Amino acid sequence: MPDFQNLPSKLPAGKTSIFSVMSGLARKHKAIDLSQGFPNFETDNHLKELVCKAMKDGYNQYPPMNGIPELREQIVSKIENLYGKKYEEASEIIFTAGATQALYCAISAFVHPGDEVIVFKPAYDSYEPDIKLAGGKPVLIELKGKDFKIDWQEVEDRITSKTRMIVINTPHNPTGTVLSKSDMQQLEKLLKSTNIILLSDEVYEHLIYDDEQHQSASKFPGLAERAIVCASFGKTFHNTGWKMGYCVAPEVLMKEIIKFHQATVFCVNHPMQRAFAEYLKNPEHYLSLGNFYQQKRDKFLELMQGSKFKGTPSKGTYFQVMDYSEITDEHDVDFAKRLITEHGLATIPVSVFHKDGKDHKQLRFCFAKTDETLEKAAEILHKL
Ligand code: PMP
Ligand code: GLN
Repeated sequence: MPDFQNLPSKLPAGKTSIFSVMSGLARKHKAIDLSQGFPNFETDNHLKELVCKAMKDGYNQYPPMNGIPELREQIVSKIENLYGKKYEEASEIIFTAGATQALYCAISAFVHPGDEVIVFKPAYDSYEPDIKLAGGKPVLIELKGKDFKIDWQEVEDRITSKTRMIVINTPHNPTGTVLSKSDMQQLEKLLKSTNIILLSDEVYEHLIYDDEQHQSASKFPGLAERAIVCASFGKTFHNTGWKMGYCVAPEVLMKEIIKFHQATVFCVNHPMQRAFAEYLKNPEHYLSLGNFYQQKRDKFLELMQGSKFKGTPSKGTYFQVMDYSEITDEHDVDFAKRLITEHGLATIPVSVFHKDGKDHKQLRFCFAKTDETLEKAAEILHKL
């Protein structure tokens, strides 16, 4: 019998992701689920038909490794129209198994043992494991104040000769804040005479509210020349389960990322690439998204008025963070679990995104839900 009990773990501190834990508990207790970030309404029927059509038309074998040219062209021109940056269709874009795989490949391709990677906390949970798997060291900088601002002076102070990469995420999960033009310009200035790579997680680029503009790294020449920008079709087109994403980067970076893409999946879903290439011909499909989700956010906040939950309106993403300290001083993980088991409502405790799991008595609510679901959730939350 082999003895695998004492095998050294590559991620000794790794735990099951909070998204699996909370969604699993929500299913078990048949709770209303505002936890993991996905919509509970359907993706567009027309898009589904395009996938079926592609399958019937015989697009069922491997597509080119970096994606079909029709979809590469669509995305390259979408980015050019929105952000003014022209990526090379042949060499500066790949489609990935969700943004998750793009992030993994980008970090794996450039982070060497001992390299430092700056991550702002609270942060989405996939960056740090990816950095550690590559032998790198996450350098954690806390976002400041109620608006979760980046202190650029602190960033400058924490950059060392070992800093290989900085990870940014705008609109930001979990806080719902966005980076401003001035933030991006300060970052541009800071990185100017360095070889630091920027990893820009922009999966919520179209989910942005109150007349805010998405400040993509592609928009700023001094950032675009060093940036890997990651995006997710799942977030934009209400089909997170399809696990389709992409990244764009200058060719000199992309040729390294591709080596990891080849080794991890080689290529991704062919019929869906065909469908997206067609569907993207109508920009309304993504340009209308900000309005659509702003109405959801407003609906949720309106429903929460008069409850003991308090929060600053989210400026982007489909998440709303709320403080519950008027209700209880329980740890947020315990409170979130009790909300499921005793009240039938699932959320995400925000401590899991924070440095050292610090508890700020906050929960994250995903408002990408039907009005009926949001109403039922608010009814439960008002009773607390
Ligand atoms: N980055 C952030 C900030 C996210 O919230 C998510 C979750 N969707 C991802 C990346 C991963 O996206 P995907 O589901 O396309 O892998
Ligand atoms: N991005 C989603 C969230 O923050 C979850 C994705 C996942 O389950 N890994 O809820």
